[in-house]
Amino acid sequence: MMDEPVRVLVIDDDEDDYVMIRDMLQQVGGAPAAVDWAPSYEAGLDGFREAVHDVYLLDYRLGGRTGLDLFREVHGKKQRAPVILMSGHGNHVVDMAAMRDGFSDYIPKERIGPSLLEHSIRYAIMRKRTEAEQRLGAIVESSHDAVIRLDLDGTIKSCNAGAYRVFGLLSPNVIGQPLACIERADAQGVIAALLDRVREEEDVDRVDISVQKADGTAIDVSAQVSAIRGEHGAVEGFSVIAHDITERKRARERRDRFVAVASHELRTPMTTILGFAELLLTRDESAAVQHDWLRMIHDEGLRMKAIINDMLDVARINEGFEIRSEPTGILAILETVVADARGRAPDHAVLVDGDPSLPLVIGDPQKLTQVFSNLVDNAIKYSPNGGDVLVSAQLDPASRCVVVSVADQGLGISEEEQRNLFTTFHRVQRAETINIGGTGLGLYIVKGLTEMMNGKIWVESVLDQGTTFYVALPAESVADESAQELRSA
Ligand code: ADP
Repeated sequence: MMDEPVRVLVIDDDEDDYVMIRDMLQQVGGAPAAVDWAPSYEAGLDGFREAVHDVYLLDYRLGGRTGLDLFREVHGKKQRAPVILMSGHGNHVVDMAAMRDGFSDYIPKERIGPSLLEHSIRYAIMRKRTEAEQRLGAIVESSHDAVIRLDLDGTIKSCNAGAYRVFGLLSPNVIGQPLACIERADAQGVIAALLDRVREEEDVDRVDISVQKADGTAIDVSAQVSAIRGEHGAVEGFSVIAHDITERKRARERRDRFVAVASHELRTPMTTILGFAELLLTRDESAAVQHDWLRMIHDEGLRMKAIINDMLDVARINEGFEIRSEPTGILAILETVVADARGRAPDHAVLVDGDPSLPLVIGDPQKLTQVFSNLVDNAIKYSPNGGDVLVSAQLDPASRCVVVSVADQGLGISEEEQRNLFTTFHRVQRAETINIGGTGLGLYIVKGLTEMMNGKIWVESVLDQGTTFYVALPAESVADESAQELRSA
């Protein structure tokens, strides 16, 4: 009846009807059908669960229940194989219900005959297949990955919209072009070699390669290439599924660089500590000299502690740890930070300025303290000749942010240096800063924490005149305020 043998399950509590259907199906030409019988609702349920049949013929009457009940119970519409409803009472209501519920076809029993049955089954199966193919096509089309079909010689036969997103390849412009058009100038032949490998050895290969988009931008992709074989097993072409991994690769490189630089940064104080410890152990020096060496060990130990603490913060920021943001009074935090800093800065005038009626900001009080301590400490550190350090907070009504600025009259930062300021371990190399201690992680952490509280940070600076860092934090909105009032009411 079909090109290939078809397995049919008849779900019908009337054995005579089953025998009739089986005999009819055996009369029709073509490949013989295996016709199985499920004599009850429960047996039908088992039949659906087994999922070995190519089509189900489901009777409307099944003891006290109906074929519709069974169809709904097994989510018939979503079944891989089509379900055809049969009914002894050729009535319009059942007919309509059947179509609405998603049966593949409906046959009134009184009209059943070998050719109608064969025709209905054949079309139901074909329609289901087409539906499945269309669904698959829609999945391919909506995929964010590039899906490209290639000829045997590597020319593009078709591609989805993802191919445009990943490579900038626009169908139909690229149809007939070699896929090698995405190769970088310095990596010619890579794709041909890959296709050869798939054709001759592997059948499927996965590679990470650097290529270029149609506009010339370099990207990294992870691509899976599979051979498409024809009826007799010969390779007829290839399918390529490619995923953009540029960002992932960059993140990995950043992490590797961080680990490399971090271990270097730790090794330097460690070498000093071990060197002086060895001197203490092997040399017999005066108490004063020994004291100097111990001081060195102590200072370098503190430096290591600072680096390790900063590294832990960096790791937490990179992991994206949770911040407990809550409505917070920023002025109180700034006053505490400044009072604390004054003790460490006898040569500076450290001042706070802010309107007491500023709205609350949404942030984590502990992290906010960390952010502003860091900025105020830097302002003091990098103005070695003293001067004013002014911390002020203002509401920016347009963005509904409270903008805190930390201004100093110190060394300043050149425009070029300002660009790398917020990256890890970046320290400005100047004669004036050589003796100022630091890890180069502070501003990276400050930026990370600020952004985790949905804030923004930027800098303005004039070399040798001074620097101002700005941190904008979202202010409590009117909606938040009324929620707050409700809570406290
Ligand atoms: P560090 O631990 O070196 O202070 P940061 O990440 O806090 O690390 O700062 C990075 C670099 O930015 C510093 O090494 C310094 O050169 C520069 N810098 C930071 N704040 C200021 C400032 N207020 N004035 C001038 N330079 C600054």
